[in-house]
Amino acid sequence: MKFAITSKGDSKSDQLKARIIQYLEDFELVYDKEQPDLVISVGGDGTFLEAFHTYNHRLKETAFIGVHTGHLGFYADWLPRDIEKLVIGIAKSQFEVVEYPLLDIKIYPQDGSEVNHFLALNEGSVKTTEGSVVLDVNIKGEHFERFRGDGLCISTPSGSTAYNKALGGGIIHPSLESIQITEMASINNRVFRTIGSPLILPKHHVCELKPIHDDRSFLITIDHNTRTYTNVSSIECRVADEKIRFARFHSFPFWKRVHDSFISDER
Ligand code: NAP
Repeated sequence: MKFAITSKGDSKSDQLKARIIQYLEDFELVYDKEQPDLVISVGGDGTFLEAFHTYNHRLKETAFIGVHTGHLGFYADWLPRDIEKLVIGIAKSQFEVVEYPLLDIKIYPQDGSEVNHFLALNEGSVKTTEGSVVLDVNIKGEHFERFRGDGLCISTPSGSTAYNKALGGGIIHPSLESIQITEMASINNRVFRTIGSPLILPKHHVCELKPIHDDRSFLITIDHNTRTYTNVSSIECRVADEKIRFARFHSFPFWKRVHDSFISDER
């Protein structure tokens, strides 16, 4: 089996990366940054997001695993002290795979030029530096509302514990193939009206965001990456056909991770 390791870049993560490479090469596994079967991310959830975006062109072939060198993460859920157990698991056993849904985002330009197409592991968000974001929100081809406010966040189930949670969204179990739309400070008065609640869309319900003003620029984030887009005709969001595959060597149920991250990790 071929493996690659990404590191947060601090000395603790780099040392752990070197140790894992040494251990796995001792078991005659091959370090291959280009075409790994398994990617091990060492750092935090932010490092894991980087690893996902580096290898998201080969999601069918590559499985992921996260080791945390800071606090417990949602993706980085292995402890450095359990690294020997993990290495033996990788070297000696056929690993189980658990799949989580992703968000598919397409940004269509007004001039019909190339569509920007992304996959997000946590979320995409739409904001602006020029006043309020004003968008028509269409769901499944029907007009739903005209949104005015700071922006919208569209998250995956596994991203529901990240930015989405801070915006008052619900935590969604990743076995539910869905996306969640949460508002950022919507304007609500007698003139402007939005639903005001997070919306959870099933697979195949496409959400289209259509800017009202042709000349506004938008800050669009895809996980940890932010870019400015001008002349946006529409932004299309749906549950992706692709999924991320996690290599599983021990059971760490999602609700236990939620509990240990947000309530307490003391038993
Ligand atoms: P960052 O601002 O350096 O860190 C954001 C925090 O979110 C980190 O503590 C990170 O964990 C944690 N995180 C990432 N994915 C998570 C998940 N699925 N569940 C629970 N916590 C998660 O940014 P970054 O490291 O580049 O990560 C980008 C992410 O930050 C975005 O995808 C977005 O979800 C999140 N974000 C959150 C807020 C907010 O909560 N108000 C605002 C903007 C963005 P680690 O420390 O383990 O890396």
